[in-house]
Amino acid sequence: MTRRLAVATALVVLTLLVGSRWVTNRSAVLANQRTTVPASPTSPKASPPPSAEPSAPPTQVAAPKPPTAKRAGSGPFGSLKLTGRKTVALTFDDGPHPVWTPKVLDQLKAAHVKATFCLVGTEVRKYPELVRRIVREGHTLCNHTWHHELDLGTKKPAVIKANLEKTNREIRKAVPGVKIGYFRHPGGKWTANAVKVARSLGMLPLDWDVDPRDWDTKDAKLIRSRVIGGARSGSIILMHDGGGDRKGTLSACPNVIKNLKGRFGIAPLR
Ligand SMILES: [Zn+2]
Repeated sequence: MTRRLAVATALVVLTLLVGSRWVTNRSAVLANQRTTVPASPTSPKASPPPSAEPSAPPTQVAAPKPPTAKRAGSGPFGSLKLTGRKTVALTFDDGPHPVWTPKVLDQLKAAHVKATFCLVGTEVRKYPELVRRIVREGHTLCNHTWHHELDLGTKKPAVIKANLEKTNREIRKAVPGVKIGYFRHPGGKWTANAVKVARSLGMLPLDWDVDPRDWDTKDAKLIRSRVIGGARSGSIILMHDGGGDRKGTLSACPNVIKNLKGRFGIAPLR
């Protein structure tokens, strides 16, 4: 009797398994139809999960991970160079800076424009109040490494990861739980590893389309003409509110903002 019961139970389980497998495959086919990705004729089964990372020792409990940031762009290693819309985006790097960041924020506020700030961890540690203001005023945050390490991308993934996590921790010490949706490599010196690590931490790699080299000149006219001349639909524009004297950038900004607003509109990265 018990044997018969066991056989019957096994049959029921088998039927359920086959049924659920069919449902899974069927949903995969349906999903493919919706997204117009053709189902591969050689593999009728649903595609296997992406190759697993080397698994952690069984005793270690995996910490919850943020979802991998997947959107790809046309910059190096799939980093974002354009907004994907008509509107352009302003980005300010190397801050927060006690002199220039508040002035940039004042200008953005006056123009009703939101931007993205690519923050350096050591500066965040010195000026957390400025990070709070950036967030309070509705701007977007971007991780720009702990100490602006230009060669970070050439290091081992574990080193890159530790650097980015340390920076995010410092930002979140200033503003608990704040979203940090982007990572920009110093000097734009992207590597495949830097992009991969940033994405695994839930940050999109943020490159740029227009670089007026404002870090190299205080000539406001030159900065202005480089931005205005270089901008096109969807440009991500790189400027600096930190790392040195930003008088030139500051003087160029009102005109730049007015021009870009009129031609394309300026919208924040979200
Ligand atoms: Zn920088």
